[in-house]
Amino acid sequence: MTIGIDMGGTGVKIASVEGPRVLGSCSIPTDVSGGPLALLDAIAEAALGLEAKPRAAGFGVPGEVDDEGRCYRLPNVPGFEGVAMQAEMEARLGCPVKVENEATAAGLAELHYGHGREHPTFLLITLGTGVGGSVVIDGKVRRGRHGFGGELGHIALHREESWSCACGQHGCLEAYAGTRGLMRYFEAGGGRAKEVRDIADSARRGERAGLAAFEQMGEALADGIRSLQCVLDVDAIVFSGGISAAFDLFEPSCRRALRARAYGPPLGEVPLLVSALGEQAGQVGAGLLPSA
Ligand SMILES: [Zn+2]
Repeated sequence: MTIGIDMGGTGVKIASVEGPRVLGSCSIPTDVSGGPLALLDAIAEAALGLEAKPRAAGFGVPGEVDDEGRCYRLPNVPGFEGVAMQAEMEARLGCPVKVENEATAAGLAELHYGHGREHPTFLLITLGTGVGGSVVIDGKVRRGRHGFGGELGHIALHREESWSCACGQHGCLEAYAGTRGLMRYFEAGGGRAKEVRDIADSARRGERAGLAAFEQMGEALADGIRSLQCVLDVDAIVFSGGISAAFDLFEPSCRRALRARAYGPPLGEVPLLVSALGEQAGQVGAGLLPSA
């Protein structure tokens, strides 16, 4: 059995996977208070609880990975800069481990088992604490020269409000369309939330603050997609990550803004879809990494 690990800014999902099937899974919080190695200990313990002797493991991280399996540039997970993830996890799990950007891994899963089968040129946008992405062109995941290909969360938007991003810059797509962005829109409308679910609940109750937060987040997302479409003209945009569970709440404003602002009609009509693998895209994709 292969272990697929999907690390986000809030939680780490760990699964034993066989192709597209998740046979067992669990999750733990992304608790970095004890340092990165303590978190890796906890992840390994959970993984070995699912599969005592894994054949191989794939590890998706919310950042970049160099040729030696060291990770860097993880704006939402403090303390992991330069950690030798591959070596550390191989020592703990006793099997080969492949480390990759988590959104790139999710894109791999979508390509093989999800909407990529029908739309071989697509963008996967992961919406969570961080906003990540995967660029798939003609059935191939394009990670770019250094793996930064698909860092869609840090493309610059031109918005009236200049909001800071976890990466240190202002105006990144993530600052508007990620969890922090939704919270900011919700609070600006007078709402108070601990997590995205509270905002979705508010919207589903028909409250103005919740509805407006998703409406504005959808418009910001459309601004990002509009620029990306001018470069790539893809067959489909696929959303994954926790916020994609509220797709019905941000899709109408996203579509409306895309139609109004995209360069030409076909670009604004690009299909907007939710990952066919749901919350398991990252884990299934991580499980595919050792054989990718
Ligand atoms: Zn940024």
